[in-house]
Amino acid sequence: MKSTSPFPPLEIPQLDLPTFMFSYAKQHTVYGRNPELAAIVDKAQSLSFSDLESQTEAFAAGLYNRLGFRKGDVLATILPNSMMYPVAVMGTHMVGGVVTTANPAYNARELAYQLKETNPTVVVTLQSSIPIVKKALGIAGISVSGTCILTTDGGRNNMRRVFSSQGFPRVYLRTKEEASTTHAFIVFSSGTSGKPKGVVLSHQNMVSNALQFLCIEKFDVELRNATNHMLQRRWLQVLPMFHIYGIMISNMCILSGAVMVIMDKFDFGGFCSLIEEHRIDTVYVAPPILLALVKSPVAKRYDLSSLVLLTSGAAPLSKELQTEARQKLGIFVTQGYGMSETSPLVTRSLCNNSAPGSAGKLCPDTEAVFLDDDGKQVGKGQVGELCVRGPQIMIGYLNNKKATKEMLSSTGLLHTGDIGYIDADDNLFITDRKKELVKYKGFQIPPAELEGLLTDHPAVVDAAVIPVYDESQATEIPKAFVALAAGTRRDGLEKELCAWIEARVVDYKKLRGGVEVMDAIPKSATGKILRRVLKDLETNRLKNK
Ligand code: AMP
Repeated sequence: MKSTSPFPPLEIPQLDLPTFMFSYAKQHTVYGRNPELAAIVDKAQSLSFSDLESQTEAFAAGLYNRLGFRKGDVLATILPNSMMYPVAVMGTHMVGGVVTTANPAYNARELAYQLKETNPTVVVTLQSSIPIVKKALGIAGISVSGTCILTTDGGRNNMRRVFSSQGFPRVYLRTKEEASTTHAFIVFSSGTSGKPKGVVLSHQNMVSNALQFLCIEKFDVELRNATNHMLQRRWLQVLPMFHIYGIMISNMCILSGAVMVIMDKFDFGGFCSLIEEHRIDTVYVAPPILLALVKSPVAKRYDLSSLVLLTSGAAPLSKELQTEARQKLGIFVTQGYGMSETSPLVTRSLCNNSAPGSAGKLCPDTEAVFLDDDGKQVGKGQVGELCVRGPQIMIGYLNNKKATKEMLSSTGLLHTGDIGYIDADDNLFITDRKKELVKYKGFQIPPAELEGLLTDHPAVVDAAVIPVYDESQATEIPKAFVALAAGTRRDGLEKELCAWIEARVVDYKKLRGGVEVMDAIPKSATGKILRRVLKDLETNRLKNK
């Protein structure tokens, strides 16, 4: 049976993202009356709403006039959070360009993969990252001299030097056809299996999802106001702006007329200190931060009394932790569910917390069905694979028709690879995951990538990586099972393999769950790794501990 959204349908304007962002904020928020108010605070600097708009236009003009950047060209951001991030993103969109966002902590091999897939002509990064970006371009086979590398932090290549006041042909999208086919972002996700793929999101995807979020937020604000809470205006942006969750929250902050206080490098003490210093009322996080707020003695050293709303997303949040956080912190704790392929929001819970542990209710204009292992729809309330349809569903994977077809049906139904059900009160519960994915503190670790690196080691003939849950950190961590070449010495090998991976990946992909040697990796008759068998093995061990 199909589940539909309990929220009223929306009227979605057919616009490009920057036109929507600036016009909506002017019409519906305090920025319309007072554009000189600070919109972004980044350490000692700030950017008013009107600065944000004028700098975005100046960057767009510079891209067009000085760098020859044209409609359909790709700009890659390889940046930590900064107030220049939205300028780079929306400036690119104003000239009809596409933004691909990469993790600035990636090593050259990881970056090269994304650069090769997306082929950017402009890269915006930090001064200190220029050598690694050049190395990655080299590995990707992209001409370094043909790629313009700009920085956000001083030096000869500073992106501000590109700013121009010359006119440029701004690309406005006005029809459904234009808005739904013009690419806005290419973010990376491994989807249901294999290596990361470029998720292509249109301007219409992004505008729709922003309005879907705002609609739920409007209901929620009414609930919050009914309990006499003050209007929230100070958000802490701790989510990485290269991840779709961070992209959405940056947009939502501006569209809510709130000030975005930027955190560029996470440490928990610094996070608490920013909340205290800026009297932050709203934060979007992943579950491990929620856990630290509840359990860490560090949190007690700070005045966090300004907090009103904390929303957790990007990974499972247990009912127990959500309830404990609400009680201990005395604030609203809500949860959202989504994915890169859904721009990202699919469901969001309301602050009345009627169903703790639930990922919330379907966004407006979004419908869901749940399928059993044979692909048959199950009844309401029964567990199955969550499949969703709505205006926020991606165009598809970049240059990968096969993977797109496997995940997205011809009628626009996206197979999420997540398992769950919707209860009688329209609340979604995610209970398990069918797809190959490990989520460490909200970051994606594609098992296929680690398995490939493990089998590159001379001692390993086969490997399988699965998530194991680490309650002490409220996150999954990756654990590897390996089968060895005949005659391989085993002593010290587990450690050696962890170090082998560590030397080849960004910190969050490390094998924190360790390595275990097996005689053979369990496989189906068709040669697919039987991950369920390995997951059950781990679960049973935990139970018997
Ligand atoms: P990403 O594309 O990196 O945002 O990852 C999306 C995946 O994260 C989803 O398919 C889920 O497996 C997981 N996820 C996101 N939000 C939640 C949530 N609230 N509860 C459980 N899993 C989640």
